[in-house]
Amino acid sequence: MSGTYLRLEGLTKQFPGRRAVDGLSLDVARGEILALLGPSGCGKTTTLRLLAGFETPDAGRVIVDAEDVTRLPPAQRRFGMVFQNYALFPHLDVGANVGFGLRGRAGGPARVTEVLAMVDLAGYERRPVTALSGGQQQRVALARSLAPEPRVLLLDEPLSNLDPSLRERTRRELREAIQRVGITTVFVTHEQEEAFDLGDRVAVMNEGRLEQVGTADELYDQPASPFVATFVGRSNVLPGEVAGGAAGTLAYVRPEALRFTNDGPLQGKVTARRFAGGFAFFSVALTAGLTIEVHAPHGAVRVGDPVRVAIDRVLLKASGARA
Ligand code: ATP
Repeated sequence: MSGTYLRLEGLTKQFPGRRAVDGLSLDVARGEILALLGPSGCGKTTTLRLLAGFETPDAGRVIVDAEDVTRLPPAQRRFGMVFQNYALFPHLDVGANVGFGLRGRAGGPARVTEVLAMVDLAGYERRPVTALSGGQQQRVALARSLAPEPRVLLLDEPLSNLDPSLRERTRRELREAIQRVGITTVFVTHEQEEAFDLGDRVAVMNEGRLEQVGTADELYDQPASPFVATFVGRSNVLPGEVAGGAAGTLAYVRPEALRFTNDGPLQGKVTARRFAGGFAFFSVALTAGLTIEVHAPHGAVRVGDPVRVAIDRVLLKASGARA
């Protein structure tokens, strides 16, 4: 991966009564897989549609390989798009689906064979698409979008159509296929696990704006805002004075950065335990009138126990206004 290949510059899209995307700027490196992650309505899909050319921005630009494509219609951008429902033609076989955008082009059948191999479906040309599993259909959709050699690949919630039990494997296969092609990719998801597993970096959006872009480790360990600290992973939000800070501030603390110990400064009582493998999340009602969540070995304490808790690390300090 090297250099910026795709640049979103101050993208803004106003719908009646709603600014769906608000001054969004992002650089995507050549060959990078970038996830757009955020809660429902944060503007992820609109951003993808602005990239694809299905929407025109009110302000800002989309630049690909130093070319401003902001005003180009979708077909002239040379972007590939995989839709959430794959949008395959059920009456056509795999080969005809994949070759759809290549009709009349010399070397079409050879290209179909080539892209089917890229997505690990070599020899599937004559299969009806209706006879394929969900994961295979997704790879046919991917092959179809890759066939005309797009400059950028866009995917809308690529795994949401699949049975949860299939998602992990399909995610890995999808990532491998994209990496094999080496294409610059932007995908939309509202699932953190998917964003972190499939993306090289993740752009966290909230209310049309970019909150932070970074690797999973960066977002988890160094959140830039209260929104990211609570949206990516779990955080306790403690009043500054409870966490040894200034009054009027807030301290964000991960459940695993809290520890049961006899001399901890926080005092309370365990009110609940939620099992999570060998560990558990314990709810602790503090005498200060606040409930916190502590991640500890599942047998560390019992419900009803009076406990003391120490804070090992404050993730983020912020002024009093909550995200
Ligand atoms: P989800 O995960 O629920 O799909 P999202 O993050 O993709 O959400 P968008 O679909 O981009 O969010 O929508 C952002 C905001 O813009 C929402 O409030 C939505 O209702 C609004 N919006 C989207 N498209 C239009 C439109 N064509 N006309 C009016 N408002 C729209």
